Amino acid sequence: MTKKTPPSIIALDGPAASGKSTLGRTLADSLGYLFFDTGILYRAVTWIALEHDMNLRDEAAITELAQKAQIDIHPPSKADGRACDVVIGDRDVTWDMRDGEVDANVSVVSAYAGVRQALSEQQRRIGLRGRVVMVGRDIGTVVLPEADLKVYLDASAEERAKRRFDEIIARGGTADYEEILRKVIERDHIDSTRAVAPLRPADDAVIIDSDKMNAEQVVARVMELCK
Ligand code: C5P
Repeated sequence: MTKKTPPSIIALDGPAASGKSTLGRTLADSLGYLFFDTGILYRAVTWIALEHDMNLRDEAAITELAQKAQIDIHPPSKADGRACDVVIGDRDVTWDMRDGEVDANVSVVSAYAGVRQALSEQQRRIGLRGRVVMVGRDIGTVVLPEADLKVYLDASAEERAKRRFDEIIARGGTADYEEILRKVIERDHIDSTRAVAPLRPADDAVIIDSDKMNAEQVVARVMELCK
């Protein structure tokens, strides 16, 4: 009997804070695959634009920035929950690019067609090498439509906001649940209604609603799909 090999390209999409990164990391570790969180690129471009006081409504300037930005990703240098180090210039921005200001503006930046084109090309080039778990909003629909397995991880906005809140508190930060909930809903709205590559499940994606599942159960379900 021949042993079935697991899918080589795994696309993992879903709304903000749905647990995609945790799932993707665990999956990639257990399969020995590359884990690629594509949100990092959109966040990094947004962070640079904010850092340089750029006008985020200036589509041409932001697009040019996305085309030229040097975003370096390295193995994690600290055991503080990070999957990797994100470095811009000589600055470690791993946590800076997860702050509230980036959260509030990243969907504006990622709605620009030119920004998406520049960043999607990089993602596709890396993804096509295979043995990869790629996480984002449009991986199964646009970046890697040929993915061998597509999963769309969903959960209610309330549950997702609660998880994000718990994460911040666990890192020693302070947070306001209602504020997080409002922002999660707003970001999902922009991401799913934009003209280019909106957030939606691919027609052939397996949709998993993780509201009543813990992280281990979600991983077990997806590992099952990989067999
Ligand atoms: O996944 P994360 O919350 O870090 O993504 C941040 C933002 O980047 C999303 O809200 C979305 O606007 C954008 N994004 C995207 N396409 C991707 C990944 C992220 O538009 N593939």
